[in-house]
Amino acid sequence: MPAFCDVALPVPLDQNFTYAIDGVVPVVGARVLVPFSGQRLMGVVIRLHDDPLPEGVQTKPVQQVLDSTAILTDELMRLAAWIAQYYVAPLGEVLRGMLPLAAEVKRNFVYRIAEPGRKVLYQGAEKGSSRRSRLSPEDQNREYAVLNYLEDGTTAKASALRAATQANKALLDGMVKKKWLIREAVAEERDARRLERVAVLAPETRLPKLNANQTTLLAELAAVGGRMKVADIRSLGIPDSTLGTLVKRGLVTIEEVPEDFFRSSTHPVGKKHAHEHPLNESQLEALSSIVISINQKGFRPHLLFGITGSGKTAVYFAAMQRVLDQGHASLLLVPEIGLTPAMSGQMYAAFGDAVALLHSQLTPDERAEQWHRIRRGEARIVVGTRSAVFAPIVDLGLIIVDEEHDSSYKQEETPRYHGRDVAVMRAKFLEIPVVLGSATPSLESWSNAEKGRYSLIEMRQRVANRPIPAVELVDMRTEFQQTGQENLFSRQLLLETQATLDRGEQAIILLNRRGYSFVVMCRSCGDKIQCENCAISMTFHKHLNNDTSIAEPGERLQCHYCGFRRNVPKTCPTCQSEHLYYLGAGSQQGEERLQELFPNARIGRMDRDTVRGRMDMERLLARLHAGEINLLVGTQMIAKGHDIHGVTLVGVVGADFALGLPDFRAAERTFQLLTQVSGRAGRGDLPGKVLVQTYHPDHYAIQFAANHDYPGFVAKELQYRRWMHYPPFAVLANIIIQSPKLEEATAWSATLGKWFERTRLDKIRVLGPAAAPISRIKRIYRFHFVLKAEQRNTLSRTLRAMLAYADTHEIPRRSLIVDVDAVHLM
Ligand code: ADP
Ligand code: ZN
Ligand code: ZN
Repeated sequence: MPAFCDVALPVPLDQNFTYAIDGVVPVVGARVLVPFSGQRLMGVVIRLHDDPLPEGVQTKPVQQVLDSTAILTDELMRLAAWIAQYYVAPLGEVLRGMLPLAAEVKRNFVYRIAEPGRKVLYQGAEKGSSRRSRLSPEDQNREYAVLNYLEDGTTAKASALRAATQANKALLDGMVKKKWLIREAVAEERDARRLERVAVLAPETRLPKLNANQTTLLAELAAVGGRMKVADIRSLGIPDSTLGTLVKRGLVTIEEVPEDFFRSSTHPVGKKHAHEHPLNESQLEALSSIVISINQKGFRPHLLFGITGSGKTAVYFAAMQRVLDQGHASLLLVPEIGLTPAMSGQMYAAFGDAVALLHSQLTPDERAEQWHRIRRGEARIVVGTRSAVFAPIVDLGLIIVDEEHDSSYKQEETPRYHGRDVAVMRAKFLEIPVVLGSATPSLESWSNAEKGRYSLIEMRQRVANRPIPAVELVDMRTEFQQTGQENLFSRQLLLETQATLDRGEQAIILLNRRGYSFVVMCRSCGDKIQCENCAISMTFHKHLNNDTSIAEPGERLQCHYCGFRRNVPKTCPTCQSEHLYYLGAGSQQGEERLQELFPNARIGRMDRDTVRGRMDMERLLARLHAGEINLLVGTQMIAKGHDIHGVTLVGVVGADFALGLPDFRAAERTFQLLTQVSGRAGRGDLPGKVLVQTYHPDHYAIQFAANHDYPGFVAKELQYRRWMHYPPFAVLANIIIQSPKLEEATAWSATLGKWFERTRLDKIRVLGPAAAPISRIKRIYRFHFVLKAEQRNTLSRTLRAMLAYADTHEIPRRSLIVDVDAVHLM
């Protein structure tokens, strides 16, 4: 029997911890509870051994073994080890991200009777021990009641025991200490879907006498085929008591059915699902490349470069169907399920109960339940956001990453992994094909295709020979010269919008900032009103009368980084001048201006303030599909994959402000956004048109986007990246040094700066230390270094050496953020 086990713990330390085995021997890959600096932490066993401990070192014993078999397969353990190595992240933190099970351990403890307890119950506690016990006679009785309750070997939660015996938690824990009871953690497995109550009309023909409400309800039920959600009955304005009475009289029954998560009705009537179209030639060609890989079985990465509207979804479906037919499972990663509910709706339509969804809106319990369902092999089609890349899928045969360029695949907290790159690695370990799809592939993926590491599949035509929309640039400098005014919307955009609405078509206008104005400036002293906690301008949110959808209406200034709010000041906080000036229009202002300009338009807005959850999004999309909204204004959310056939005009307002951001990916992001938003136009029978208002009409990102020339854009951008030694020609890491104390942050930055200088690193470029682009967030000061290396190894080695040096100079690990392959340099 091994004496020790090494455990990976979710703490920001780059090491594992050794514990003594005391009783049950855990297997490698099992979860255990162990003591760690006064807390109880859950970790994963990664090694069993008898290695002698270093002199003077004492180990504590494992407190509890939670699993009898490995909770993670070898494959996932291997993936975790790779992530820890590649992203320079503690293994325990990586594993925690893979196991969505914290909820189970925290909440679901049960008690079971132990042998000594049974003895006490049958023979009475040893004579004298009850005299010495400090328990009151009532508590002693409760102890017996608990033992009685558990006598037949059942397990019960603390809450159940309290209800039955009035024994509180302290009493139960006392019994555990005396070894009368065993306390253990369990994982509950329920149906992953929330239950929903449905009223069902009973097959009764003779109707008794009814009041008006009762008659209405029965009539409504009969009209919709005899079944209706209880929630929907409430929205008819019929009181709950009416339903209650009908249930009592046996005229209606209530059934609990799994909630139709995402199977909702946003899919417009008459519009076909992606899998219902016969594939066209270029779709078939794309599919056959993927199917060849599937049949050859082996690691084969593909980049599917298909323009917007080329019908990529249908190709994914067909490939997944092939894999399913061969008895294997598939994983489809998507950027954000809530933003594109149509995708999941179509999944259910095509694959029914074989589908499992993993996304950020699940509660920890729901997530755990889905996880178990997948692990039992019940879900053969797994669709999810970033962390779904860790789903314990049995017999995985194919991974697809949709919109692979999307920055939401990068996790912005430890472990800072990129979901797309982990997906490729997982496919490599499993020796299966992986497909990365996009109309605007990331430069990293594109250059992998150019180098022949990924095989390139192209889809250059829109489905049904639909033309790609014509893009026209509107030079806002000329507009200003001609009108003498700084207008939010150009004359041309207004004319074309009016014409579109007059023709009974729909228009979308992108205004990629939330709120009303994103800068409030004092004209007397020039100060901008900043957040108290962050070095960031506050955004003005106005109260619009019709904004019923906003959870918290009212005028305010808000920080979009920490959420801090304040009232709108009448005078400048610095100089008390009354001349406050509101600059920069956000989507809320766009909506208000459009309402003035087009009083008859049916206007909708799509941004973080109006869309707070999946239901908001579904409602908005349903209204768009139905034509209830004919003019939509919003942030980049409107550019996300929506397939609304009535949209023939897309207007872009102020998209080039992003070009000025201090980030080497600014041009790439602008190109992607313009291309994706343009792609929303002309997806139905009528051709689309795009108007881009810009102050930089000659900028190459804008020019290439206007010409739908992705290859042209990447060629130019890659040249620039090569000169500047940026990815994909270098590997990059962002190191942030943070502290609530400015002196600490500067001192640590200087210490590390000197170390970088002294060590004179070979083949690595170090920029910094410098104040981070956002120099303070949530009252924490931030400095950074950017490291660029030619070789991955050099970079990893340097980062580890730096961390070791920081450790010896008492720079706490949690004050250093290491972001390998950083996506945002903020
Ligand atoms: P992409 O993701 O490439 O932008 P989608 O997958 O959203 O494109 O498909 C665009 C639209 O074309 C959808 O409405 C889809 O149902 C439809 N579609 C897909 N394949 C075909 C086809 N072969 N013929 C006609 N329409 C199709
Ligand atoms: Zn001022
Ligand atoms: Zn803030």
